[in-house]
Amino acid sequence: MAGTSLLTPSDIRELSNKLGIRPTKTLGQNFVGDGGTVRKIVSHAGVSEGDHVVEIGPGLGSLTLALLEAGAYVSAIEIDTVLAPALPATVTARHDRPERFAVAQFDALKLGQNELAIPPALDTFTPTHLVANLPYNVAVPAILTALEELPSLRIVDVMVQLEVAERLAAQPGSKVYGVPSAKAAWYASATRGPLISRNVFWPVPNVDSALVRLDRRPVPDADRVSVFEVVDAAFSQRRKTLRQALGSWAGTPAQAEEILLRAGIDSTLRGERLSIGDFVAIAQAKTEIAH
Ligand code: SAM
Repeated sequence: MAGTSLLTPSDIRELSNKLGIRPTKTLGQNFVGDGGTVRKIVSHAGVSEGDHVVEIGPGLGSLTLALLEAGAYVSAIEIDTVLAPALPATVTARHDRPERFAVAQFDALKLGQNELAIPPALDTFTPTHLVANLPYNVAVPAILTALEELPSLRIVDVMVQLEVAERLAAQPGSKVYGVPSAKAAWYASATRGPLISRNVFWPVPNVDSALVRLDRRPVPDADRVSVFEVVDAAFSQRRKTLRQALGSWAGTPAQAEEILLRAGIDSTLRGERLSIGDFVAIAQAKTEIAH
């Protein structure tokens, strides 16, 4: 294993003071100062020697160093204009293969319009893993954007707010099944991982966290944008039946009923009972009826 010195709570304070930063809520900045936690995330993600890993929001570098310690090449995306340029120095000071790391400063939600940085040790970077302690306010769109824009990703393993981890991993029929669950299921099968104590963070957040792992699977043979429109419509009025909830998407409730009949789906159900396969069937039925 390469020589690496992970960040402790006092390192986190010292680095923050040196950079003159105060963690901001708007950017979901809660830094981890616990080696056990970052190693747990890396092992849950199954990262091993030589893997190409994307990290969103490396912050001061806590998880980055654990990924490098496991032998990965890391390309990080950090939005903060003070934190991003400070990372290479931290990696060089604490890890003996700094050429395996590169960082780009941009908003991870704009992944489609920006290039990942390529670690100097590589000619090309083909990410197979996304591993991150995600900023809570953008966790779901960041995951969906990465799965859409980085087709080589096989595994997404991230620490998020417990509630978000549960939503992402929820199955149809569960109380927390909703838009994030259905959209994540388009790309991957999701499983909730272990809980993480809020005390490993600085500052301590007022919510619990958990890991969630998404394993990519082949996407359905359908137009994603049309299917996601059905998902959004079905959950826009959670308590309504599909006939009502899909009314404006279809034109009228009667047209929604016709589409649902063709898709073989009971129009008195609610969106929370439908699998991604059902949403695909509804989008396709609408296209068939229109032609
Ligand atoms: N990975 C570090 C750790 O575990 O200590 C920091 C995690 S902190 C919860 C989230 C990080 O994501 C912060 O560094 C924040 O600046 C960054 N961030 C917030 N919004 C972002 C965005 N849209 N794109 C990229 N990075 C973002």
